[in-house]
Amino acid sequence: MSRDSRFDILFEPVKIGPVTARNRFYQVPHCSGMGYRYPNAEAHLRGMKAEGGWAVVSTQEAEIHPTSDLTPANEARLWDDGDLPALSAVTERIHAHGSLAAIQLVHNGLHVANRFSRMIPLAPSHAVSDSLDPVQARAMDKADITDMRRWYRNAALRAKKAGFDVVYLYAGHDMSVLQHFLSRRHNDRSDEYGGSFENRLRLFREILDDVREAIGDTCALAVRLAVDELMGPSGITCEGEGKDIISALGELPDLWDVNLSDWSNDSQTARFSEEGYQEPYIRFVKSVTTKPVVGVGRYTSPDSMVRVVKQGILDFIGAARPSIADPFLPKKIEEGRIDDIRECIGCNICTSGDNTNVPMRCTQNPTVGEEWRKGWHPETIARSEAPEPALIIGGGPAGLEAARALAQRGVDVMLAEGGGEWGGRVARECRLPGLATWGRVRDWRIGQLSTRVNAELYLHSPLSAADILQYGIPHVAIATGASWRTDGVGRTHRMALDFLSEGILVSPDAILSEGAEAVPSDGPVVVFDDDCFYMGSVLAELLARRGRTVTFVTPESQVSPWSRNTLEQARIQKRLIGLCVEIVTAMALAGRTKDQLELSCVYSGRSRPVDCATLVPVTARLPDETLWLELKAREAEWADAGIKTITRLGDCLAPGLIAAAVYSGHQYARTYQEQVDKDRVPFMREDIARLYGLRSG
Ligand code: ADP
Ligand code: SF4
Repeated sequence: MSRDSRFDILFEPVKIGPVTARNRFYQVPHCSGMGYRYPNAEAHLRGMKAEGGWAVVSTQEAEIHPTSDLTPANEARLWDDGDLPALSAVTERIHAHGSLAAIQLVHNGLHVANRFSRMIPLAPSHAVSDSLDPVQARAMDKADITDMRRWYRNAALRAKKAGFDVVYLYAGHDMSVLQHFLSRRHNDRSDEYGGSFENRLRLFREILDDVREAIGDTCALAVRLAVDELMGPSGITCEGEGKDIISALGELPDLWDVNLSDWSNDSQTARFSEEGYQEPYIRFVKSVTTKPVVGVGRYTSPDSMVRVVKQGILDFIGAARPSIADPFLPKKIEEGRIDDIRECIGCNICTSGDNTNVPMRCTQNPTVGEEWRKGWHPETIARSEAPEPALIIGGGPAGLEAARALAQRGVDVMLAEGGGEWGGRVARECRLPGLATWGRVRDWRIGQLSTRVNAELYLHSPLSAADILQYGIPHVAIATGASWRTDGVGRTHRMALDFLSEGILVSPDAILSEGAEAVPSDGPVVVFDDDCFYMGSVLAELLARRGRTVTFVTPESQVSPWSRNTLEQARIQKRLIGLCVEIVTAMALAGRTKDQLELSCVYSGRSRPVDCATLVPVTARLPDETLWLELKAREAEWADAGIKTITRLGDCLAPGLIAAAVYSGHQYARTYQEQVDKDRVPFMREDIARLYGLRSG
């Protein structure tokens, strides 16, 4: 297939100062959780993007000095020449596929606590560090400013030595000393670096000049700038100083990469924003500079990409998440394979990797983070040399991905789903408020399966152990999912609560299947959330929108605390407050009377009642393993029936994230005929000793 001519504009080369990008697809800097501690993983991740057709592939932020130490986060580092081999490996893999390599230099200023280096953080003015650490940053004096300029210069020289084509100055996400100097909130200096707009811009200008001189005329110089902090007048705004900065510095860099600050505003999830959500803030940029502009907004539709270029909003289609969900997105557009694009669902499981200091994972792309250590390629899987048929039971994310990837390997695969629709939990969850895009997990896999002649798909096919033994298909995978518990057991209550009788209980599964109607319309509803991620809040939101009086009770001190890792926590809490959901924190379940639940404070044990006609406990799930247990009980019959292996996948093995279910299905498809050696580490590990010269060979 060849590309549709209406997408030609996306494949035009664009000059960035002295270098030229071969097309308009631009992987903007994004963290990966791999960074300096997992250099091979990082290099292979970035190389994969280049192979997939992104003309520019950027690193994550690169700390330029030990006074900018984000430990335990795992970003890129350029503290000294010892960091060069890891970064050279990145540029080599990007260049191998004809793309430009970009690096984002940062001094994190007051954003860091310097937990590892134990050095004092630096800031324009005395300030408490951004984290909760009991650490303060020191106001920089003139000597510090001289040092800072030299550190940027040295880092730029090293970046060039490592082979980067584009060197970035980062003034975004409220994470960089350059943004801190620009900000009236952070900068109350009275010298020539504070006060007036020009004074607050001075350090930025100086460092731009220094870095330009350092990199010479073979590397491009880019700026990543937050044009709006969504804080109104107490922050940078796109009508105010965001615009003034670009107007003042307009032609100095070779490229403007513009976005929103902080990170939670920049990487909004689909629950809170649509594709292209940054356009209202960044559309002015091209009117004040002639330099190419890149911006983001979770663009996955090629038509939207063409539109933003044609409308003169952007020159490059910037992407972090769409490039994670589908590293081959540009290639697929180029080859006219639009239906093959694996669209990002905007769930931010990827950001949770960085926020928990581990290599990232992705709901849609199970191979991300596994490019090096497991050798997984997002587009290709070795065909099975002696394929044996497989039967997959359960058409949720685990079963769908297992079937899809097995079919791709050339295996004859049969997928049986007991219900009347595909997708399992994603089919149900994507009907919840704000989660419609999650249906893409199902849609992409069904789309891919429908093109395979070796895949047979059956709905309305609840299989029993007897059915499976009768079919005698050599490899069987059970992906029958999980159900929410209704006995109160979870993190807080480790034993069943016997006062929870059927009378007042409505399980999350009932709401997922029947909608808000599962909950009686009269009387107050209590959602008890001990799960701590999205489900409790989204059910509360659904019920409140349908006119129920909702109290949200959590043993934690915030609504949905794990969603801090997906950058959603503040938005979720704000939304529930906006819907007049009463939020009760730090409370567990203690007992009940006819119309009330008794809550007890998790610290003091002091109790208080809450009116409750219906309780929705969002605590934990149990695997739906009946089928597995029946088959296990008849294991002696497997061989005679012609069955070699029966394997549990996804939530049926252990309930978890949708991302984990997809990963489980993918893993199965790659290894279904292999004997698992449980004593062996199932992936390659970074050889840190060798990397740092402690061991040769
Ligand atoms: P996962 O997240 O692990 O993929 P889901 O709960 O999303 O799990 O999906 C499990 C699917 O398995 C559901 O759609 C359910 O209807 C289906 N299922 C459960 N038991 C059977 C069975 N015995 N035969 C066929 N399908 C089943
Ligand atoms: Fe998109 Fe979710 Fe994958 Fe992140 S984890 S890239 S938001 S699908």
